[in-house]
Amino acid sequence: MNLIYIIPKYAAYKGLAAGLLVCLLIIGCGNHAIEKTGSQPNLILISIDTTRKDHCSVYGYERDTTPNLNAFGAQGARFEQAYAPTSTTGPTHATIFTSLYPITHHVLKNGLKLSDEYVTLAEILKTQSYQTAAVISSFVLNAKFGYAQGFEFYDDAFQPEESTVKWKYWEGHRVDGSFDRRADHTTNRAIRWLKKDREQRRPFFMFVHYFDPHAPYTPPDSFLNKLSRKSSLKTQLDKTISKYDDEITFTDQQIGKLLKTLKEVGLRSQTLVVITADHGEGLMQHNHMEHGVNIYDELVRVPLLFSWHNHIPMNRVLNTPVGLIDLAPTILDLLDIKADSWSVQGQSLAEALRGQVPLDPMRPVFLFRRHYNEGTVGHTWVKGKKFGIRVGKWKYIEGFQENTKELFDLENDPNELINLYDNFPKKSLELASKLQEWKQENTRANSNRGQISKEDSSRLRSLGYVE
Ligand SMILES: [Zn+2]
Repeated sequence: MNLIYIIPKYAAYKGLAAGLLVCLLIIGCGNHAIEKTGSQPNLILISIDTTRKDHCSVYGYERDTTPNLNAFGAQGARFEQAYAPTSTTGPTHATIFTSLYPITHHVLKNGLKLSDEYVTLAEILKTQSYQTAAVISSFVLNAKFGYAQGFEFYDDAFQPEESTVKWKYWEGHRVDGSFDRRADHTTNRAIRWLKKDREQRRPFFMFVHYFDPHAPYTPPDSFLNKLSRKSSLKTQLDKTISKYDDEITFTDQQIGKLLKTLKEVGLRSQTLVVITADHGEGLMQHNHMEHGVNIYDELVRVPLLFSWHNHIPMNRVLNTPVGLIDLAPTILDLLDIKADSWSVQGQSLAEALRGQVPLDPMRPVFLFRRHYNEGTVGHTWVKGKKFGIRVGKWKYIEGFQENTKELFDLENDPNELINLYDNFPKKSLELASKLQEWKQENTRANSNRGQISKEDSSRLRSLGYVE
């Protein structure tokens, strides 16, 4: 019997089963024994919603939007070419947590539930005695959509006075309470957990999600036009982009406050901190504001920074394309937690982060855009799904139902403005067939990804956890 059918039926056992499994494979069996020194490192993972890599000064943006990330980046490593798997909040976070692509974990758009069948990073860490906590900032990641799996503490309740978005219905769901929470309130909640709610005797994993850079762009008054002279904002678009940047700056300040607290409570040196974003934001580069409808770089290139004193070299810059699909395996590898039986689609970047082995520059990164019924979103006509692949300097995007095939040379055309599909037919075909292979592989693998292996299933069955 395939485990995919067993796990949902025995969902109540999932945590126990996963825990037992990891114990079986890791701690008890010796092959991959973890050295239990009593000083297991902590993990903080920060996701900043809607933050374009190229609007962060840590990546060279002309406005100094991220002074705290600049300092953070200097203490660790940053990826220059990190990709979200898609340009939508829910599906990307599901990928961050499961290391599965959206077409595998099936959270293809916002408002769909991440099934309990899938094992998450928080669940794995919980089995390793980590205390797990999440402080989030948007209803999009509400626990009802499955993102709280593995978290012992999941703060997704927002007060009206903390909120800036007043939506009552979203993607067909009634919003419970307020829709979002501003970064200062989220930071205060995270700090309270660190200082008061945390159990001192256990290592912890804290996930913090900020939502401010997401539209509508409403920075606090003290941040409005902080980085730009009013006279330089000539068009409405200039003013809008300035406000978007102000939201990033405000969030950066709050991340600085959180990191300062971590230092004050004496935990900075024993904590791996990872900072990223779930997607970028169209600011009219391809005639579109906001995100979701395409997979050009402004919507899928995200910041990705790692810092852990004495474990990751300072000021390290990695230029190879990677994906957020790689985040969970990388984190587990850095923390020296082996979960070999956890079937994931990403790969660990830990050795490259440590400077031991270079990454394969030709490893593909895959991209996906959700299905849309035919229509117009903003100024963009949409129909069906889209898929993309990045290999080396090349990026290929196809939308069969929109009848589009695009090939870009990102080295010479970073803004993806010149479609070279007809100019380089061999390269176009090569990337199209790689993409096709990947889609077929995903379709085949869909029935068992994210699960545990048959042997592990047998072991659990012999112990009475599954039938
Ligand atoms: Zn988002």
